[in-house]
Amino acid sequence: MGKVVSVDRNLMRSMNQSTLLNLIRTHAPVSRTQLVQLSGLSTGTVVSIATDLLKQELIMEQGVANSNLGRKAGLLRVHPNGAYVLGLSLVENDEIVIVLLNLLGEIVQDSCWQVQLHDSTVNVVQVITEKVETFLQNCQVPREKILGLGCGFPGNVNSQTGSSVDNWIHNWHDLSITDPLSQALRMPVYLDNVVNCLGSYEKLYGHGRPYRDFLVITLGRGVGMAMILNDDLYRGSRGWGGEFGHIPCVPDGRRCECGNQGCLEAYVADHGILASYHELRHKYPDDARLAADLSLDEIRTAAREGNEHLRSLLAQTGQYLGTALASMVNIFNPECVILTGAHVHPEDVLFSSMRETMHRYIFSRLDDDLPLIITPVTSTRWAQGAGTLVLRHFFLSPAQTGA
Ligand SMILES: [Zn+2]
Repeated sequence: MGKVVSVDRNLMRSMNQSTLLNLIRTHAPVSRTQLVQLSGLSTGTVVSIATDLLKQELIMEQGVANSNLGRKAGLLRVHPNGAYVLGLSLVENDEIVIVLLNLLGEIVQDSCWQVQLHDSTVNVVQVITEKVETFLQNCQVPREKILGLGCGFPGNVNSQTGSSVDNWIHNWHDLSITDPLSQALRMPVYLDNVVNCLGSYEKLYGHGRPYRDFLVITLGRGVGMAMILNDDLYRGSRGWGGEFGHIPCVPDGRRCECGNQGCLEAYVADHGILASYHELRHKYPDDARLAADLSLDEIRTAAREGNEHLRSLLAQTGQYLGTALASMVNIFNPECVILTGAHVHPEDVLFSSMRETMHRYIFSRLDDDLPLIITPVTSTRWAQGAGTLVLRHFFLSPAQTGA
């Protein structure tokens, strides 16, 4: 006998509500008639859900459209203050950044703390709980209007189980995060790798909005990549895809933090560029222009101003990056590539060299009109990205978020 499958009406309505909310988010200002056309749902369902969403103040009416629904109806858009989310990021060694975002993904409030976190014996959940509670005490909005907390951690993260699998920066391994944090804070908690958080932000609110397939590359302490493929984050079979920084770059080259030799990160990350600089000083001990112990920003400035040694150092770094990126473009054929990082400057020698190299190695005409966006990232942007993990779940139906 066949099994009777019952349709959960609440689940169906919740999915329809997510669909409409997301269409209102992406098409605002939008009429109910347009929503019927865009969603494929019946007029009755659209009108009923829109009425509910207006009552909950999750959407608002703005302007008036000619309607064939029997009356003049307002155009709908997401109510920025209908609800809020929290985003928390750990990017630098001992820095916790927390932001409050409205439903448009905009930062309403932010705070930053210096906390000792680099130790496997630190009670991470307790430290984070204390900081979030402190943030909430000073928060401008009531707790019941906050939908949840999104966390962005470095290293390998299992977003399904909500655990930090390997975090070499803070020296944590196999640490359960979302379950205990959710219990302590009494709100939903989501976790992902910080670079994926940034990818999520770019897709929902940033440069990636118009694209279904794009790559976000982060340069800084490490070299990371978020892949947005077919409108969703691609994580790989075990959730650890996108380790762009650890693709082989120089055979038998420098030792990388991951234990291998010659990874891209060992040459292109901040510490990789500094290592190349120290090799250069060792090679030319009598060159007065290399006498000072320059910082990364000073190296970049000196190269821009014409120091030949430093120009060729950054040009070589750009070649490594450009070669690796050309491979990514050849494989994924993205609509756009976004390069970002705290010290990223589009005028850098590194990027002109990278562009030349990419042009040389990108297959056929794949780079003819490939937008390459080079933009710096602020410390609050990582936390903003973490907050968009919650907004993704709010706006996208369970089928789209893999929940
Ligand atoms: Zn490596």
